[in-house]
Amino acid sequence: MFSNKASFKNNFLKRLEMLCGKSFSESSARDQYQTLGSMIREFVSNDWIETNERYLAAQGKQVYYLSIEYLLGKLLRQNLINLGVEETVQAGLKELGIDLDELEELESDAGLGNGGLGRLAACFLDSLASLNLPGHGHGIRYKHGLFEQKIVDGYQVELPEQWLRSGNVWEIRKLDSAVKVPFWGKVEAKMEDGRLVFHHLNVETVTAVPHDMPVIGYKTQTVNTLRLWNAEPTQFPIHADVLKYKRETESISEFLYPDDTHDEGKILRLKQQYFLVSASIQSILKTYRKQHASLNQLNEHVCIHINDTHPVLAIPELMRILIDEEGYEWEQAWHITKNTISYTNHTTLSEALEKWPIHIFQPLLPRIYMIVEEINERFCRELWEQTPGDWKRISDLAIIADNFVKMAHLAIVGSFSVNGVAKLHTEILKKREMNQFYQLYPEKFNNKTNGIAYRRWLLKANPKLSSLITDAIGPSWMSSAEELTHLLNFQNDSTFLDQLLKIKNDNKQRLADIILDKTGVKVDTGAIFDVQVKRLHAYKRQLLNVLHIMHLYNRIKEDPSYSIVPRVFIFGAKASPGYYYAKKIIKLINTVAEQINNDPRVGDKIKVVFLENYRVSLAEKIFPASDVSEQISTASKEASGTGNMKFMINGALTVGTLDGANIEIKELVGPSNIFTFGLTADEVLHYYQHGGYQSREYYHHDYRIRQAVDQLVNGFFAGVNNEFEPIFDSLLEENDQYFVLKDFASYAKIQEQIGETFTDKAQWQKMSLTNIAQAGYFSSDRTIREYADDIWGIKSLK
Ligand SMILES: *Cc1c(COP(=O)(O)O)cnc(C)c1O
Repeated sequence: MFSNKASFKNNFLKRLEMLCGKSFSESSARDQYQTLGSMIREFVSNDWIETNERYLAAQGKQVYYLSIEYLLGKLLRQNLINLGVEETVQAGLKELGIDLDELEELESDAGLGNGGLGRLAACFLDSLASLNLPGHGHGIRYKHGLFEQKIVDGYQVELPEQWLRSGNVWEIRKLDSAVKVPFWGKVEAKMEDGRLVFHHLNVETVTAVPHDMPVIGYKTQTVNTLRLWNAEPTQFPIHADVLKYKRETESISEFLYPDDTHDEGKILRLKQQYFLVSASIQSILKTYRKQHASLNQLNEHVCIHINDTHPVLAIPELMRILIDEEGYEWEQAWHITKNTISYTNHTTLSEALEKWPIHIFQPLLPRIYMIVEEINERFCRELWEQTPGDWKRISDLAIIADNFVKMAHLAIVGSFSVNGVAKLHTEILKKREMNQFYQLYPEKFNNKTNGIAYRRWLLKANPKLSSLITDAIGPSWMSSAEELTHLLNFQNDSTFLDQLLKIKNDNKQRLADIILDKTGVKVDTGAIFDVQVKRLHAYKRQLLNVLHIMHLYNRIKEDPSYSIVPRVFIFGAKASPGYYYAKKIIKLINTVAEQINNDPRVGDKIKVVFLENYRVSLAEKIFPASDVSEQISTASKEASGTGNMKFMINGALTVGTLDGANIEIKELVGPSNIFTFGLTADEVLHYYQHGGYQSREYYHHDYRIRQAVDQLVNGFFAGVNNEFEPIFDSLLEENDQYFVLKDFASYAKIQEQIGETFTDKAQWQKMSLTNIAQAGYFSSDRTIREYADDIWGIKSLK
């Protein structure tokens, strides 16, 4: 159906009539989108079935990736690219007078994630399928993904996201594979045949209905599965409050929690976690039992990977099934469980380490809680036997302590592998945050530096640059990212560098049009496009960027003849709706933007824009148009970052701290092709431990800082009273926990150097090329190969 243009057109027209009950001339763009989507789904269905048959026949190991988030974005064009039919379809549609870009606009982003963690899961799925690896995702089919952000009078306003409003062409609802998930009730222990058995009684059940989406590999026959679970009522009890039950059940898959580093501790969130885990494990075991009579060798054929601690209840859930349903003794069940589960840690921020109060946990999941208690007791006994009398060690490491269940501790104790997401992050885990666990289980700890689906972030997002690369080094970089290093041969090829510049400018023009359309601000593509797009967080330090912009503005005002290399500062960021401080920063960015953009003394020297509703599809238009990538987190705080990699592969130069994967970027491109500044992680951690930082000293001794910080509260911004006092206080009263003022001077200095470097076009393009050429390392294909070889033990199956 996609073999050539004519057959595509033929099929498309026939199917459109069948599917929509309209003639082509009456059809809407949405009808056309639905038609194309259903064609792709049908086209892959054979490969999808065969992939599963191949996996079963091979009897090898399979991995199941459990993640509470998947930030997929749009799928239409990526699927066409991966199937190798994009050109045929685009040309065929064109002859029918249809613009593929316009159809793509109709697709909603599947925004089932907050940021980096959910996007990583999406990138991993792409790489698993593209490498023909037997790996599937399990997640929740949230009815509403991450909220839609509007900016009104400079403030963030949240609207519910509605990606399912016109259905989801990619999914198949599989009612026959539904499973039941029990909550509440009580546990009864009884002796039966000389064995203590447990019954979970008076439960409230929720039905989990899988919706499967095909995950199509890049130019392979492999189609893996992303299984998203929908929560539905099981039975309507006659006497109970039917409506209440229906509402409560459905609410489990209603909303994605919009906070990416802090768990609210709400019961619904814990329900979501257990819902995901219980449904997924039941389904995994159902498949497993088709081939294996017992679960004795489960860990040799199945690996269950938990993306952060949100799915950590996979551990007690698997124990429960093995013991209560399969009749295993504790020791054997523990052996199987521990060797089946692997775990990725995503953060060392203490506020982000999940813990659940027993008073919420125990009533909701009584049997699971009993098992966690037993795991904890046995673990503490083991610790006692190693170091009798060392109560401190036991209370530090215990899974249950101070009336909380510590999810990261459960994850480490109940798994065979614990990995960090960048070299520095893993070192901090081993040497500091989880040091006591590292001493106990050194063999479990390992590093897997994150990566990105570069076929989305370069091939799809930046088609012009992609063609230039293919013309230069041939097409095989699209499946072997490391071949991008061949571009280093063009470092001194001025024709090539000129083409690179031209493409960058075209992409900047495309973004400039979007900026004008969305914000009314006209920006010059000759300026440096200096971009910070990511979630809004104190530790990511959008504030450092803003204070520096305010400082530049002050300089221009004081000396109108002051010449600077023109800059457009571009921001995009969602703040968690309950994160008061982050919302203040958004208001500050917009207030500064308003003032600067309308000051005739500034003119085109500086523009500041905030693009609302940052998400995957917008990101795809931003990275290709960026000159400077802002990665300025307080060192030690950003576990890896993946935005930094997307900028790099699109030729932006990084201004960054020595944090997360920035360090590995620096190793690859060399110190002269990146702009680093600021405290190191060791210095930051030393200050946290030993004190010695006084933000007021920096305020008093640096006029630039004092001026900008005072402007937050001295009426400098018309019409905003006391608005920014909390920001002022965070810097001075609370002693600037994120070292914004401490790093200000070195940041301002490196920014000046960036301006100078940019004026040397040839030099800049050469640096840009080096970044593109070295970015292949950050392909998630590389990351996934490492997971497959070192952790999961799965093999490619063609
Ligand atoms: C990559 C990505 C992120 C993560 O960005 P960081 O800069 O690594 O925090 C967040 N949101 C979206 C939409 C992304 O594409």
